[in-house]
Amino acid sequence: MENHLRTLLEDVKTGHRMSEKEAWDLFQVRNRRVWEIAAAADEMREKLVGNAVTYVRNQNINVTNLCVNACGFCGFSKKPGDDGIYFHDKSEIQRKASLAKMREVSEICTVSGLHPDFNAESYCDVYRWIHEAAPGIHLHASNPMEVAYAAQKSHMSTQEVLTKMKEAGLGSMCGTAAEILVDAVRKKICTQKVSTDEWVRIIREAHAMGIPTTATIMYGHCESDEDRVHHLAILREIQEETNGFTEFVPLSFIHMNTPLYRAGIARAGATGREDLLMVAVARLFLDNFKNIQVSWVKEGIKMAQLGLIAGANDLGGTMFEESISKGAGAINTDYLDPAEMQRVAEDIGRTLKRRTTLYQLA
Ligand code: SF4
Repeated sequence: MENHLRTLLEDVKTGHRMSEKEAWDLFQVRNRRVWEIAAAADEMREKLVGNAVTYVRNQNINVTNLCVNACGFCGFSKKPGDDGIYFHDKSEIQRKASLAKMREVSEICTVSGLHPDFNAESYCDVYRWIHEAAPGIHLHASNPMEVAYAAQKSHMSTQEVLTKMKEAGLGSMCGTAAEILVDAVRKKICTQKVSTDEWVRIIREAHAMGIPTTATIMYGHCESDEDRVHHLAILREIQEETNGFTEFVPLSFIHMNTPLYRAGIARAGATGREDLLMVAVARLFLDNFKNIQVSWVKEGIKMAQLGLIAGANDLGGTMFEESISKGAGAINTDYLDPAEMQRVAEDIGRTLKRRTTLYQLA
């Protein structure tokens, strides 16, 4: 195994495209060899994107936590009659967008629960309100589930919804709602969500229309290593066709307040070894992705820093407001000061650089 691992890492560094079986082998590593994988991924990162650690100055706006779905990993959504439901109207959304503008953010990010009364027009209204209050901002919003939901509610095709959203100012789409792109897992954790095929189709449609998206995985619940690898292979294949993914963002499962964990279906999240390997294996396997982001919201800043020496090059956004991971039990998710990002980057001999959503350096 040791020789096989070393040979494989050397081959990958010189351009060998990893197979799914080889990626699976890397996920099995449980000893100090983890550091060799991380080191190889770090070398790949340096070769591909250099030594900057990037971040985007962004602000989150979650319009509502009311949701018709009931995903087992979600600690954020509420049902009618629950305590703590919120719904931000036009004036509140515009107040938050103006505040974002004053904070000099370049991106507003909005994903919400699937409100029972929402349709395609509702999403477009929100986008227009945000642009009115924060002209010039990049709007990173929606995801394939919201697009599918809007299409169903408005009796439109998902392509028509994407067209309307783009006209209303959608700049790029979130690649969330991917979770694990294996239907057997989706049936356990988010049975009402779009299927794997639908997620892939909507992402391809967005890319074909010039709407870039992120790519994500949510891991550390009840998926297997085969499932993770299969998921990565789907992303690599899409990227090969479209080159529409701006980055890959591994999202470590936050278990505390989730029905899936309470019901004993999910374990208590990924371990540190798994967090590191997810970043490193992704860097090595996703050879057509330039950017790998570590989520300080999901992993905390210390683990995120280790991810930066295991293949990642991006720290994500400042956020200013975060409620999805907080709802599931994460702490300190609202804001990360760029000064702290700089401390973390400089501590590993790297330079922090501000970027736009589409990775132009500011
Ligand atoms: S993950 Fe999204 S779609 Fe699923 S219940 Fe939570 S808010 Fe609703």
